Amino acid sequence: MKYVRVDYQGKPCWGVIKGEEVLTLTVPPYEGLDYDGEKLPLSQCKLLAPCDPTKIICVGENYAEHAKEMGSKPHSTPILFMKGLNTLNRPDGAVHAPEFVGRLDYEGELAVVISRKAKDVKAKDCSDYILGYTCLNDVTARDVQQQDGQWTRGKSMDGFCPIGPWVTDEVDPAALKLVTRLNGKAVQQGNTSDFITPIPQLMEFITASMTLEPGDVIATGTPMGVGPMIPGDVVEVDIEGIGVLRTQVV
Ligand code: MG
Repeated sequence: MKYVRVDYQGKPCWGVIKGEEVLTLTVPPYEGLDYDGEKLPLSQCKLLAPCDPTKIICVGENYAEHAKEMGSKPHSTPILFMKGLNTLNRPDGAVHAPEFVGRLDYEGELAVVISRKAKDVKAKDCSDYILGYTCLNDVTARDVQQQDGQWTRGKSMDGFCPIGPWVTDEVDPAALKLVTRLNGKAVQQGNTSDFITPIPQLMEFITASMTLEPGDVIATGTPMGVGPMIPGDVVEVDIEGIGVLRTQVV
């Protein structure tokens, strides 16, 4: 299934993509597949962020080659941080950094969307708690992140979390190719098989400390090749079997 949230003629709603149509739902897909019988033409829908999280949990440096380029040694346990809900941004949305930001980076990532309340989940049971997977751009004001010594401001400026275009449960996340393109040129090429901590172990680690709610997001970390964007740039996060998340920098 491919789950979406769309704006059709000014009205937001949840749905499931079937061919060129969106079959609409009365509630978010993680509350049950309650179809209301309406079908919308996908081409006339504006895609919105395909989830409604209470928190966005991010994993820092989950690819060894990226940790190396950031000058870090591999961590013995996952490094977690959060992005504020003010960062949520839609597919084909725009990202704008305040004037004082000197370096604005893309970070293409695979995101996990949670389907039901998850606490103390064992790695072997994690798929019971996952709605599906989507693309995410962990937009980062790199100079601010480095200047502050912790990551809240640099990671959580308004609109800094484009996510989408939809959530799919039709992929196996263990080995997916991820490509980030800047103005059409590939700048990051990774594979989720290179995660230092794979998704099942991440779920166990995270839920040992905090309860994940339906719709919550885990951003699983970015591969090597992070780099800057400037106004006018178009960045695309393209994950095998999922789709392309496109964002314009303005
Ligand atoms: Mg990241």
